[in-house]
Amino acid sequence: MQLIVATRNAHKTREIQQILGPTFTVSDLSAHPEIPDTRETGKSFGENAILKAVGASGHLPGLILADDSGLEVDALGGAPGIFSARYANENATDKQNIDKLLVELARTGAKETKRSARFCCVIALARQGELLGTFEGIVEGTIIERARGLHGFGYDPIFVPRGFEKTFAELPAEVKNTLSHRAKAIRGLTTKLAALKTAD
Ligand code: IMP
Repeated sequence: MQLIVATRNAHKTREIQQILGPTFTVSDLSAHPEIPDTRETGKSFGENAILKAVGASGHLPGLILADDSGLEVDALGGAPGIFSARYANENATDKQNIDKLLVELARTGAKETKRSARFCCVIALARQGELLGTFEGIVEGTIIERARGLHGFGYDPIFVPRGFEKTFAELPAEVKNTLSHRAKAIRGLTTKLAALKTAD
């Protein structure tokens, strides 16, 4: 089955391909520079995922999915949340975002036990401008004080999932990809894709 992810974030596309496995062929908008970026004007992960999936499905045939995701830190009142990609500035690097988050968290004086956080992901599936479904996944964890590990992307080096001692960036991709917010959202997506295949 062919799927197009409405993103230009190669890390997301790679993870989605790895989680879905070889029976799916996943591509993204990097092959379609003519398609405009969707303005993420929604107030939630779900609203933004729908905007991106439905928007791109008006330009491309077939099944289009969009992942909107981010990190919610309790001591920061849920920030950076939907602004995770552009927390430090509009074109922020992962390192700039991590540095800002650690500075903000240090400012709150939150100790180890109060550094609870979660990654959230909503995946929206659309075809020809029509929304076919949304699927959510959450993984709980803790923010550590110094970045550790080289795998993954984004805030992975400072996020330790509950029940583990290593960060997402220290754990092998196969481990992150069984327990992550994205992996959980994709479980709902694959159920829907199987139903669509049966209906076709
Ligand atoms: P989006 O492209 O608006 O959905 O922004 C997603 C942002 O959330 C990314 O740029 C990362 O900063 C963060 N993020 C989402 N998923 C992950 C993940 O699996 N690991 C680390 N950071 C993530």
